[in-house]
Amino acid sequence: MARRKSVAVDIGGVMVGGGAPIVVQSMTNTDTADAEGTAAQVEALHRAGSELVRITVDREAAAEAVPHIKEKLLARGVEVPLVGDFHYIGHKLLTKYPDCAEALDKYRINPGNVGFREKRDKQFSTMIEVALEYDRPVRIGVNWGSLDQDLLAHMMDENAKQADPLDGNDVMHEALVVSAIENAKRAEELGMGRDKIVLSCKVSEVQSLISVYSELARRGDYALHLGLTEAGMGSKGVVASTAALSVLLQQGIGDTIRISLTPEPGGDRTQEVVVAQQILQTMGFRAFMPLVTACPGCGRTTSTTFQELANKIQGYVRERIPEWREIYTGVEEMQLAVMGCIVNGPGESKHADIGISLPGTGEEPAAPVFVDGEKTVTLRGKGIAEEFQKIIDDYVEANYEKRA
Ligand code: SF4
Repeated sequence: MARRKSVAVDIGGVMVGGGAPIVVQSMTNTDTADAEGTAAQVEALHRAGSELVRITVDREAAAEAVPHIKEKLLARGVEVPLVGDFHYIGHKLLTKYPDCAEALDKYRINPGNVGFREKRDKQFSTMIEVALEYDRPVRIGVNWGSLDQDLLAHMMDENAKQADPLDGNDVMHEALVVSAIENAKRAEELGMGRDKIVLSCKVSEVQSLISVYSELARRGDYALHLGLTEAGMGSKGVVASTAALSVLLQQGIGDTIRISLTPEPGGDRTQEVVVAQQILQTMGFRAFMPLVTACPGCGRTTSTTFQELANKIQGYVRERIPEWREIYTGVEEMQLAVMGCIVNGPGESKHADIGISLPGTGEEPAAPVFVDGEKTVTLRGKGIAEEFQKIIDDYVEANYEKRA
């Protein structure tokens, strides 16, 4: 499937657009003024696989902390581009805190709240001028929760005068696209190249997102940041994001993605990175880590051995992959299968690089292992998980080339 052609943007050494692999990004939820806490979360997000990390820069204390966050990350060997998220007073913060402007690798500008009426153009220009001075790219990020109300009101009025007016929702979709593109053009008039501009138009409804981005993609070749805003908690957030993004990605639309999940209180922020990676990997766009194919289990698996083994193997692979990736090339593409009984077990296991078919209820207590489609050994007894892990280790060592 062909990707939409877009202009490549270099964000602190990470390429977005222009045919580069689709980039995974995330955003912190710490108080940016807490430099230590924010650096720790940026590090966790990056180690989970986030290739860009955005932090909010909402007030002076946050702007002051940004260069310290960068220093702390560099001291820990974490070199991930940082994106500053600005609303309302970005023009003031970027000019008053040059170290903050310098430390950030990209600025996110929301045209809906950059200022009102006559101040809007001036404040927007100030942010673009700072970006030009430091040679930084920007994301012009429109959001329907903060859409430029003057623009929307004007477009609603114009629509009402038409003989056959559009539905209000369609006008709002059009206003999102117009806001993003008009502001990008304004940035270009101020001297910014298209290779410094990423666009986004986020909404929280799946069908609206698909419709808005399809239109945005049709009207220009700017690199696009995809994301369903305020996707929600738990499985709802995961499902809604996946439904929306997979339709667009399948059409070749989207150069970088962020999954806006609401974590459970005290939950793990890195979950949004895992979901982004899994969307891209299960769709075949990128490979980040060996995935375990497991059957859902049924009445033929009356014990929990099968679920425990599948869980243990996925956990083991997740734990080992950072080290494997450093040593071996292509190991993230390895495919594993853990199956519950003889019905589909041997067949599915043969399709994987390494598969194990556990005994279902009433079957002989033996678990045949298949490597590259051939049965190699049958495991029995209590140490099946450990023995299977050893087979995986040996396979990695024997089949993936060591990095130079
Ligand atoms: S492979 Fe066996 S245990 Fe798994 S779902 Fe199919 S029939 Fe059930």
